[in-house]
Amino acid sequence: MSELAYPYEAPASQALFDRAAAVTPGGVNSPVRAFRAVGGTPRFMVSGTGPYLTDADGREYVDLVCSWGPMILGHAHPEVIAAVQEAVARGTSFGTPAEGEVALAEAMVERVAPLEEVRLVSSGTEATMSAIRLARGFTQRTKVIKFAGCYHGHVDSLLAAAGSGVATFALPDTPGVTGAQASDTIVLPYNDLDAVQAAFAAHPGEIACVITEASPGNMGVVPPLPGFNQGLKDACAANGALFVSDEVMTGFRTSRAGWYGVEGVVPDLMTFGKVMGGGFPAAAFGGRADVMAHLAPAGPVYQAGTLSGNPVATAAGLAQLRLLDAAAYATVDAVSAQIQGLVTEALAKEGVAHTVQTASNMFSVFFTDRPVNDYEGAKAQESFRFTAFFHSLLANGVYLPPSSFESWFVSTAHDERAVQRIADALPAAARAAAEATA
Ligand code: PLP
Repeated sequence: MSELAYPYEAPASQALFDRAAAVTPGGVNSPVRAFRAVGGTPRFMVSGTGPYLTDADGREYVDLVCSWGPMILGHAHPEVIAAVQEAVARGTSFGTPAEGEVALAEAMVERVAPLEEVRLVSSGTEATMSAIRLARGFTQRTKVIKFAGCYHGHVDSLLAAAGSGVATFALPDTPGVTGAQASDTIVLPYNDLDAVQAAFAAHPGEIACVITEASPGNMGVVPPLPGFNQGLKDACAANGALFVSDEVMTGFRTSRAGWYGVEGVVPDLMTFGKVMGGGFPAAAFGGRADVMAHLAPAGPVYQAGTLSGNPVATAAGLAQLRLLDAAAYATVDAVSAQIQGLVTEALAKEGVAHTVQTASNMFSVFFTDRPVNDYEGAKAQESFRFTAFFHSLLANGVYLPPSSFESWFVSTAHDERAVQRIADALPAAARAAAEATA
């Protein structure tokens, strides 16, 4: 521990965690935050500015989680904060339509060509749940194809073989999800078009949709192989099913038009969250106007929300989207590439087998020398090395996602000083990874 910049204990965070554990299951409101995969005390954060978070013990970290994606402009961006303050002063929820939600929907439709109509909701989970219901209502079919390692929120029918926290805790399935819900879900290996064709052949006229992360980030970053998303689109079109692209993580992050902007495959329905909410609970689903026309009150498929299109959340999201111009994406891409290079250099120097995988500016490190194309590949890495790597970085002021099954995120605010902090912390972390034992 001698080369660590900080004492490793986090007494103020530990005290808060103890208080939390008395009133909240596991002490957290979302499982991955609990540090169970890596051990130790989860850091309770008290503030965020630009690329930094400060914890309850007063320690500052370079943040490579960015709230799991939303904070693409860094924390407390002055223009986003100003938009929020202006909106808050006008009232926090009306329960009526308001102009802000129209403006946010227009901004999204303008950026993402396949998005003809949008319905705003409050979380990515609500977005995917509603998109699945709409796909089933539109096609009058029940079955859904999803891919192992893809996470679409905690929707009952989509939790089978899911990524993110479900992968982190190695949960095969979740008690509370009924057999009927699970049996309508067909789980296939990611990047395997033959398996998709076989599933369509085995269930003629039964499959409502295929849902996939546009470019998965919830088993670590595992981009689609060339032609995979187009193959899904074609298989859906040939079999009367809808192609649902989940852009909750990639939307407005991997480019101005999300992963669609990178690859150009046109989905029937898309889901969004994270960046479009500017750090507030705003999410959305949308796509083909003829499909969206089946949604209440225009059509019979019911969907609603007391806080949907909340005026403060839409003001934050709109402010963030307006700031995300070509220069902003160029900055995020460049800083991402720089950090990837530093990680590779440090791990290579210590002889640690690793693969850095990227999807535009999203990236993650797998502790294996084999390229990872699916969930089985992701699980085959030496995760114990990640644990050592993570704790060394944490102790030296760099905050990584506390799991090897997550994407790392950067922002326009990650400047030279922040990158230097990472560069300074990496050699010890790479040594810790090299010395780690299972
Ligand atoms: N879909 C994807 C691809 C996600 O990454 C997530 C969350 O990480 C979700 C859906 C669920 O979003 P939320 O956590 O806002 O419910």
